[in-house]
Amino acid sequence: MPITTISSIAELRSTLDAARAAGRQVGAVPTMGYLHDGHASLMRAARAENDVVVATIFVNPLQFAEGEDLADYPRSIEADTELAEAAGVDILFTPSVDEMYPFGPVLTTVTVSDISSGWEGVTRPTHFAGVATVVAKLFNITGPVHGYFGEKDFQQLAVIRRMVDDLSIPVTVVGCPIIREDDGLAMSSRNVYLTADQRAAAPVLRAALDAGLAAISDGERSPDAVTAIMAAVIEDEPLAELDYVAAVDAATLETPEHLDGDTRLLIAAQVGKPRLIDNDGITIQS
Ligand code: AMP
Repeated sequence: MPITTISSIAELRSTLDAARAAGRQVGAVPTMGYLHDGHASLMRAARAENDVVVATIFVNPLQFAEGEDLADYPRSIEADTELAEAAGVDILFTPSVDEMYPFGPVLTTVTVSDISSGWEGVTRPTHFAGVATVVAKLFNITGPVHGYFGEKDFQQLAVIRRMVDDLSIPVTVVGCPIIREDDGLAMSSRNVYLTADQRAAAPVLRAALDAGLAAISDGERSPDAVTAIMAAVIEDEPLAELDYVAAVDAATLETPEHLDGDTRLLIAAQVGKPRLIDNDGITIQS
């Protein structure tokens, strides 16, 4: 079936309501566009597990702070449409900002406290409220769906899972693994901002994660020791400036006294214009 583009909330809602009334399960993949294989992996997962797949392309102003890259966030609707169609998407939902926020700035927002405040939330204090609000709004538009999100944005995934649970949103959240370039750099729309030198330096985040995972595999259980090892890898790369590094409990995103069980290493670093984020997990058997 060729892909259909829908830009109206009312039309998407009635299309998906009709699909569900006919007994069809809907999968939804929210994105900001400038699609790459990381996004395609979410779409393919949704295709494999649902009868109807809707992908959203919406660069959500609410989740950008003053001075961030809202105006120059990369966009390419033709290439995105081709990629989405090849990945099995049935409907591309491309609402305008006016369609999503017809009354101007929203007065109603969704805040997921605690898990939004650390790590990304320190540098971007308003970001997760913007994400949670637009995802809640999107799920109110789509109705009950399976919603696909990447572990690339590990804290975002935790925020959305918690919001869905707390607000009894009738959505099943599905987390999908990180897709990387051959040299280990996690795919991201913002990688397009990297100059050739910065692009060559950017896999240093993956190298730092590897060093942290190796230390844990060798028996290190102190979060501070693991993060010091990871930070040293970034400090050796002059083009990268460390923002934060963390070794956390994968469920709570809090730093335990001793690492144990499902553990996640988180890292963020500025490499030229883009602030790159990455993470990886390890299960420690005590
Ligand atoms: P974005 O367009 O950056 O807002 O991302 C849309 C969705 O794609 C989010 O759920 C991201 O976590 C996911 N995503 C982005 N990059 C990757 C990647 N490299 N691997 C897997 N998922 C990703």
